[in-house]
Amino acid sequence: MRVLLLGGTAEARALAEQLVASGVDVTTSLAGRVADPRLPAGAVRIGGFGGIDGLRAALADYDVVVDATHPFATTMAANAAAACAAAGRPLLRLERPGWTEPAGASWHWVDSHEQAAERAAELGRRPVLTIGRQQLAAYVPALAGAAVLARVVQAPSISVPLGWTVVSDRGPYALAGELALLGEHRADVVVTKDSGGEYTWPKMLAAAELGVPIVIVARPPRPVGVQAVHDVQQALDWVSAEG
Ligand code: NAP
Repeated sequence: MRVLLLGGTAEARALAEQLVASGVDVTTSLAGRVADPRLPAGAVRIGGFGGIDGLRAALADYDVVVDATHPFATTMAANAAAACAAAGRPLLRLERPGWTEPAGASWHWVDSHEQAAERAAELGRRPVLTIGRQQLAAYVPALAGAAVLARVVQAPSISVPLGWTVVSDRGPYALAGELALLGEHRADVVVTKDSGGEYTWPKMLAAAELGVPIVIVARPPRPVGVQAVHDVQQALDWVSAEG
């Protein structure tokens, strides 16, 4: 059985490793956003498929699909649902659970990056943005005059306002480093997405420890009717049941 694994996440890499170890023919697909991606075990293809029609055509080479893309990769998830339905391929969504606010924390939930920018502007003047580089432009109108520190994996394509600092770094992150990052910047608000998982959780602990409020963008809706699991073992079980 040939598995197409839509990746770009730690869970996708873990699943690829386990499938290869079990002798399953798996190809991980990466979008190609990052210049030097962490490559998973097994075969890898890099770059977009060319929308729903391109993916549907590509599915001729695969029997089942696991969509393990990031919770905020909504276009790829929607395309996978449409293409798999059209091509008659079983599709599983592997999505890590969202984060839960610990007691004593100060989280401000919003539904969009624009709302996050406005809430951050209300809460502070020295925000730390950890929402990725692709969404940075949404923060410029509300935070152009603020002392923003934006942490990204790869340099953004927009030129950021004067007074903003961009640091490039890639997780997983440790609590000590997160405390140093927020402390040295004298951060008074942190903005994040509900990515879930452990790789980027220490910043939430650091903010709580320093009494810094967090603005958190809620997850976008997922395509309806797609079976979903929340950990790698459940995805492995699904693949073996399909085979
Ligand atoms: P997106 O907005 O949902 O997708 C935009 C387009 O990128 C898709 O239509 C597709 O192009 C291509 N694409 C996305 N994921 C792909 C994959 N795994 N393999 C092949 N093509 C892919 O996605 P995004 O939010 O830009 O995320 C891109 C990748 O980064 C994803 O693989 C995701 O898992 C990873 N990632 C995203 C985030 C985030 O916050 N969004 C965070 C960490 C990692 P075509 O239409 O041409 O097929």
